[in-house]
Amino acid sequence: MSHPAEEDDPFEDVREETDNPMRRLFAEYGRENSLQFVVGTLASVVARVLDLMPPLVLGVAIDALFNEGANLTFAEAAAQTLPLLTPAMLDGVVPATREGQFYLAIGLIALGFFGGSAFHWTRNWGWNSFAQNIQHDIRVDTYNKMQRLNMDFFADKQTGEMMSVLSNDVNRLERFLNDGMNSFFRLSVMVVAIAVILFTMNWQLALVALVPVPLITFFTWKFIKTIQPKYADVRSSVGQMNSRLENNLGGISVIKTSNTEDFESDRVDDVSMEYFDANWDAIGTRIKFFPGLRVIAGIGFVLTFLVGGLWVLSGPPGPFTGSLELGQFVVFITLTQRFIWPMAQFGQIINMYQRARASSARIFGLMDEPSRIAEDPDADALDVTDGEVVYDDVTFGYDDDETIVEDVNVTVPGGDTLALVGPTGAGKSTVLKLLLRMYDVDEGSITIDGQDLRDVTIPSLRRQVGYVSQDTFMFYGTVADNIAYGTFDADEESVVEAAKAAEAHEFITNLPDGYDTEVGERGVKLSGGQRQRLSIARAILKDPEILILDEATSDVDTETEMLIQRSLDDLTADRTTFSIAHRLSTIKDADQIVVLEGGRIVERGQHDELLAEDGLYAHLWGVQAGEIDELPQEFIERATRRTSRTGAESDD
Ligand code: ADP
Repeated sequence: MSHPAEEDDPFEDVREETDNPMRRLFAEYGRENSLQFVVGTLASVVARVLDLMPPLVLGVAIDALFNEGANLTFAEAAAQTLPLLTPAMLDGVVPATREGQFYLAIGLIALGFFGGSAFHWTRNWGWNSFAQNIQHDIRVDTYNKMQRLNMDFFADKQTGEMMSVLSNDVNRLERFLNDGMNSFFRLSVMVVAIAVILFTMNWQLALVALVPVPLITFFTWKFIKTIQPKYADVRSSVGQMNSRLENNLGGISVIKTSNTEDFESDRVDDVSMEYFDANWDAIGTRIKFFPGLRVIAGIGFVLTFLVGGLWVLSGPPGPFTGSLELGQFVVFITLTQRFIWPMAQFGQIINMYQRARASSARIFGLMDEPSRIAEDPDADALDVTDGEVVYDDVTFGYDDDETIVEDVNVTVPGGDTLALVGPTGAGKSTVLKLLLRMYDVDEGSITIDGQDLRDVTIPSLRRQVGYVSQDTFMFYGTVADNIAYGTFDADEESVVEAAKAAEAHEFITNLPDGYDTEVGERGVKLSGGQRQRLSIARAILKDPEILILDEATSDVDTETEMLIQRSLDDLTADRTTFSIAHRLSTIKDADQIVVLEGGRIVERGQHDELLAEDGLYAHLWGVQAGEIDELPQEFIERATRRTSRTGAESDD
């Protein structure tokens, strides 16, 4: 699930709109880092030119110094090897004595190596910092964007896919920017420079030396065509294998208790074997590639050696004309070899480019994902005076085809407590998520002190509406960090105060490091009740104007619940509070109770009034208080229908 094959791309729809993602990448991110880019490119060119110096100087030295038969001066030999130079240009530069020329040659060769190293370093610095800066910027931007996406985006189980965009895709882009582009420039400079040198030195022999180029191009193209679908198979089988392993490790306790170890071992064996097969298939193709290339490169070498060798030995063979010196022959042989391999690498670079392009399409796809909840550019900060909250004819559904909340009308005067009661799935949490503007209402409106939620800024709203949820998430960090989460400027004293008010102080001081105990996945495990009390402490510290308690006390034992209730009473005393509780005893003193069923308010009033009405609330109360054993049959039937529907939903 978290390793999608590239084929099922969650951002497919957006992707088509992201045309030319690579151009966009450079326009949006390359510009800021253009200095590194320019430095990297220039250094790359210089480094390559310096790399070519030793073999060229070797060729010149052979003809001018070691091969008496050539009878050439140093300047003449140089001009013959590099026809861009003329002997006149070298006047006064080349020493007159043979000895001096010999040391000049050594000096130039040394310069080629040492100067080359310095420029290779500069090139790597330029390219690496270019790639690193861009990957960092992109990752942070993508994360920031993702964080602002609507909850429904996350609800579609896309966390795995997003994780894969944030890590795999960004990394792949980095790899291309770093290795791919780097190699591309390096190889282009090499290929162009070598081709120019060979052709200007002796175009006829250059044609012979380059016979393998079309062969190599064809061979590489063929290889990429063959290997690509095989790599796709490998990736998809890795995905399947990882999903299986993840799933099994997550469900290890079920495997053990159901005694299905052998069954699961077989299943893992199967997916691992599929991966093995896919991989082996790709390996089979891959290991043929380099030996094949060697054969083609060998053909070039042998041909050049044959023609060039005959030429040096006994003048131009067959249709060839002109002269060829020994030194030139040596330069030919060395440079041809340096020419062949880059040609083969272009294929890999094209491959890398294509993958990087797909990755940046995915990244921009995510960045372009529209937010359904858009903040009005003219929005003002929410100004809570009384804390009066009004739901006016609110209707909402997560999907277009199913209404979850229908025609909800509630007015909660400032400072009052409204309790929401009803069976699971009735829409209680949804009603409250709308108040936090996790979703926008489809019809009607919600106002706080007369201000429509859609007209105020989202941060100002969420700052003033505190939320204590049923599943409390603990972040990596200490207990104190977790209490102060969202109120980062809180001092230690107020953190402890808040913990005391939430009846959490005592258990915290019993933890190994007290308030400094690490929690979260890597830290100590807290019980559900403990986490809830931390969450309440968090809300107390935040001191919001309006408070939402979503089954805040569902996870604790009766005794703790009573303690928490006491602190909650303080917390809720003079602020507008919305409370969902399964245990009706905790909300019986609420100023208003609304009973939801199937997204509609079916009863409303205070505890005593609702009991007197003898409806759903009275029945629920009766069951909880142990006064009646059973709910009416009609209610059970409705609940069964409802749970069978939600059950089917959660299964997929
Ligand atoms: P309650 O809090 O009363 O148990 P909820 O508000 O959590 O009810 O859920 C009401 C209905 O909305 C349920 O049928 C549930 O399956 C559905 N629902 C809840 N959250 C989502 C979501 N993110 N996407 C789609 N449907 C959802």
